[in-house]
Amino acid sequence: MHRHHRFTLLLAALLCAAPAAAQSSLTTEIDRRTAAIASKLTAWRHDIHQHPELGYQEKRTAALVAAHLKSLGLDVQENVGGIPGVVAVLKGGKPGPTIAMRADMDALPVTELVDVPYKSTVRTVYNGVETGVMHACGHDLHTAMLMGVAEVFAGMRAQLPGTVKFLFQPAEEVPPRGGAQPMIEAGVMQGVDAVLGLHVGPGPLGTLSWRSGAISAASDAWRIVVRGRQTHGAFPSNGVDPIVVSAEIVTALQTVVSRSLDLTQGPAVLTVGAIHGGLRENIIPDSVWMIGTIRTFDPKAREKVGVRMKEIAQHIAAAHGATADVSVTLGYGSTINDATLVGRLAPVLQRVSAGKAFESKTQSMAGEDFSRFANVAPGFFFNLSVTPPSVDLMGVAGNHSPLFQADDNAMPVGVRAMANAALELLVGGVPKRAQ
Ligand SMILES: [Zn+2]
Ligand SMILES: [Zn+2]
Repeated sequence: MHRHHRFTLLLAALLCAAPAAAQSSLTTEIDRRTAAIASKLTAWRHDIHQHPELGYQEKRTAALVAAHLKSLGLDVQENVGGIPGVVAVLKGGKPGPTIAMRADMDALPVTELVDVPYKSTVRTVYNGVETGVMHACGHDLHTAMLMGVAEVFAGMRAQLPGTVKFLFQPAEEVPPRGGAQPMIEAGVMQGVDAVLGLHVGPGPLGTLSWRSGAISAASDAWRIVVRGRQTHGAFPSNGVDPIVVSAEIVTALQTVVSRSLDLTQGPAVLTVGAIHGGLRENIIPDSVWMIGTIRTFDPKAREKVGVRMKEIAQHIAAAHGATADVSVTLGYGSTINDATLVGRLAPVLQRVSAGKAFESKTQSMAGEDFSRFANVAPGFFFNLSVTPPSVDLMGVAGNHSPLFQADDNAMPVGVRAMANAALELLVGGVPKRAQ
């Protein structure tokens, strides 16, 4: 090899190594700062868990988040999008890209059955039914972890290249409107080069996983109202019984996925989530309503499920002299992980979890409002497993269960994963997405 050629190569290697070295010292800094706030993460999460708020009602949670972000000296906006959305901007000391990170803040109408000192005793009336309110999807952890990332980054602001945007969104669990869309319309994604998010779920404590391509399903809501003719329970032939018709419809709906879809194009689920009709034992009611969810990956399947539901419900109703109104409301689209970001960030998750991260082989049928942020800028969404080690993973309660539980010790892993993923993009840059 020619001597000055060799020198050029050496220089190039040194220049390449400089950002890498800077990044590794910043990684050490993230680890140190995360360890220092572990007890704060727990305190925030317990506070939020004990005071859960349903979608669009996250006033207390948003105020807690905003107060913390202001105490860090960040530029904070509240009531973003006319809902309790909170956005904070942290400008690093050096030029670089803008990376957004998102946490959802809403709880669910679920009555908590986990016996922890910070158990929720909040109650509400939802869809006319009295129920508890619980962080049964782990959004309390998401919120606490992003508060933690903000504190970690605020302490190293001068060394950071680029800008970090913290998005705290309400109403993830309230499709079709959700919380992302109003915030996007308020301009929160302007200038954002990439957006990151994570979700907790059951699994070995502290394990991280990701998936290339689709990581959440399209999630649509449906409603069927079956109308018969009310009559005395002792004289059914004088009326039209919508309960019997509804039972046939529920049974026949099970054939939509199994008989009408080409499942080689992706999995699909059709669920009846609620059914209601009647008031007492000797009255056949006038009508029955039922609601549920549709989960698909294939756009053709997404359309076909709605078509088949209408055909089935209307024809069964007609066969009995009843009518069925079927409406489908399109909700969140599928969350697609950006291929370039997956390539860059999978090794980061691997490093953060000391080799315990893995690419998930299974497609989750969960829906995610994060998909809307990921439609605007390249997105990366990953999973963090949070089951306490004392709990048997066989038959462990999943998200939305009244028995869902999460170990606080998972949170430092999540903070380090989010912060290091953001750091990788801040330091290394984000390629523009191919149009
Ligand atoms: Zn959920
Ligand atoms: Zn969730």
